[in-house]
Amino acid sequence: MSKLISTRAIRGAHKLVARAEKELMKAIAQKGPQVKVEFPNTGYYLPISYGMLGLKIETLGGLQDLLEEAKKLLPPIPDEKLWLPYLGHTLDAGMATLFADEIIEAIKYTQNPLPYLPETKPRDGHLWLGAANDVIMRERGIEFVDGTAPGFAACVGYAPTNEIAVRIARELQEKNLYVFISAATDGKSMARQLEEEGIQLGWETRLVPYGDDVTATVHSLGFATRVALSFGGAQPGDFQRVLRYNKNRVFAFVLALGPVNDEKHAQAAGAINYGFPTISETDIDQILPTGICTYEHVVSPVPLDKIVSKAIEVRGLKITVAKVPIPVPFGPAFQGERIHKEEMFVEMAAQVKPGFEYLRTRELDEVEDGKTELIGPEIDEVEEGSQMPLAILVEVAGREMQSDFEPILERRIHDFINCAHGIFHMGQRDINWVRVSKEAKDKGFKFKHFGSILHAKFHSDFGKIVDKVQVKIYTQEKEILELREIARKVYHQRDERLADMTDEAVEVFYSCTLCQSFAPNHVCIITPERSGLCGAYNWLDGKTAYQINPTGANQPVKKGKPIDGAKGQWQGVNEFVYAHSHKTLQAFNAYSIIDNPMTSCGCFECISCILPSANGIMSVYRDYAGMTPSGMKFSTLAGTVGGGVQTPGFIGHSKHYVGSRKFISAEGGAKRIVWMNRTLKQELQPLLQKIGEREGIENFFEMIADETVAITEEEVLDFITKKNHPALSLPPLF
Ligand code: SF4
Repeated sequence: MSKLISTRAIRGAHKLVARAEKELMKAIAQKGPQVKVEFPNTGYYLPISYGMLGLKIETLGGLQDLLEEAKKLLPPIPDEKLWLPYLGHTLDAGMATLFADEIIEAIKYTQNPLPYLPETKPRDGHLWLGAANDVIMRERGIEFVDGTAPGFAACVGYAPTNEIAVRIARELQEKNLYVFISAATDGKSMARQLEEEGIQLGWETRLVPYGDDVTATVHSLGFATRVALSFGGAQPGDFQRVLRYNKNRVFAFVLALGPVNDEKHAQAAGAINYGFPTISETDIDQILPTGICTYEHVVSPVPLDKIVSKAIEVRGLKITVAKVPIPVPFGPAFQGERIHKEEMFVEMAAQVKPGFEYLRTRELDEVEDGKTELIGPEIDEVEEGSQMPLAILVEVAGREMQSDFEPILERRIHDFINCAHGIFHMGQRDINWVRVSKEAKDKGFKFKHFGSILHAKFHSDFGKIVDKVQVKIYTQEKEILELREIARKVYHQRDERLADMTDEAVEVFYSCTLCQSFAPNHVCIITPERSGLCGAYNWLDGKTAYQINPTGANQPVKKGKPIDGAKGQWQGVNEFVYAHSHKTLQAFNAYSIIDNPMTSCGCFECISCILPSANGIMSVYRDYAGMTPSGMKFSTLAGTVGGGVQTPGFIGHSKHYVGSRKFISAEGGAKRIVWMNRTLKQELQPLLQKIGEREGIENFFEMIADETVAITEEEVLDFITKKNHPALSLPPLF
């Protein structure tokens, strides 16, 4: 660490200890050593000396013991030429500072009139409140324990303008943090700035003006000490436990606004003892290596428009956004809501227009938390009944975030957006489909609100791994088409990760019940060789999702005793599916399309169904709007297959499941495929060629019919007969 910052903190500590000694001697000389000193209505004496040293100081004379302790801790000011490991000395100087602060503040309580108003909010021109009493501490301290308030920002100094002071205060309040204000600079302080702007100060609004003296900063740390003593089980004098409790449980930091003198450096050193870092607007020397604080100790210079988010990041604070800030009601109750055509204001993507959803990880400094950008027209600029493209790009950052988590988080876009009343969402990846109702539009819902929803929900549901979320909403085609290629490459890489794993090699599969909002009895069983039927979750994703959230929608499913290995039926899986399908599904075969196949929700990428006269099956992707040889278009097929029911002869599945060795293996596997819509067939060409090689069928890809050569079952039969398709030599399906 820098010698410079250490020198300034130690020099500040020397000045404050000297000041404490001078004021104490003067007070004793004037009033006598027996004069009582106490903070108002507290059983914690002077909390820093009580918590750190176990001292029960009650008189001016008693403060002398504390002064001696401060002096003992004071390290020498670093020599010009001598190099030393400075952190330990800086911490000692910080603690000496807090002792000195406490002496100076305690002496104030012997003055008449008292320089503080010992109440919960300023009144009659009295701005500064001083130390909190025990009633306030218990009421408010419990919030630090139950998470209602994650911590506090100790703000010292002043902002360049009143407007900026208000903005910083509001930003901190929105994150549920307490704002403890002290240490005016040249008579200017953030508390005065807020007062001038008519902002309500006090414990009720969590904007607490402690005092304008730099030493009043000690009331923040005194409060933290009392929280550890009161709620953390720390004993007076057990300084290690007090400090560790604060480091681990009280998410606090110092925001240094404006110039930072030696005394403020010393306060920062005091706070570091508690694991509370300092974030400074002014360019002061930094202390970056981790150690006492969770991450960095002192970070500067940080622009004021980023100072709150930087502080939150450096302190490792996880923010939950209590309310989703959108103009329509929000909650799981709206998840199953459908928006019919006549109720719809706009439809987005839905394969009619391009779209995709993609979540990716970025570095912490590449993500501005809460930022939503709209690239393209907003809802007010489009005609009622329009169909338009939609891409949602979510960028997250977090010290615990891993790229393996991306698909799990990305799939949640579906149910998060569905929680908004008047908004319908279906699909994932590049088959997303959204409708916004006329009612939602009339209530003021904007496309930008997708960002508000995702920001709030990713923080609240994935706060452990996500520190920052920014969202880009695209509603114009050009950018969507470009970015979709990038997203598709990533989808492909994700699908490839499992290439060599088999169902036999594992004892546990994973469930997914995310789609129960639409299909209440549907359970996806995800195996290494069968991904979820939306294509967004594979076995590894299920495993990762379970690690992230052990009580979530993805649970391990023990296979148990095999019942039918060829069809893919196990006792453990049956029991799980029965219990989680509301007892509607007794048996389930993972590898069969005819005998007890898996249920389908509505998010499947493809539907396959049998074509009896061709002795094979057809597969259709959901963006194909034309007729299929089954006599039904995709939409009619989806109505038949979806909703969480078991439909023998039909299955919903992901595109890439076609390439799995277990794809309808009970009926002979992928060589049963006799028809595919053309775009799907082309997209899967490499995979179909691989299947041909695997099965020893030359030109398998060319043997499969599509809509350009056949749209009835008879035409398919004609085509495959000419091609000598292998399905014709397989045992009859019935
Ligand atoms: S389709 Fe299956 S795997 Fe995909 S989200 Fe729905 S339940 Fe989960």
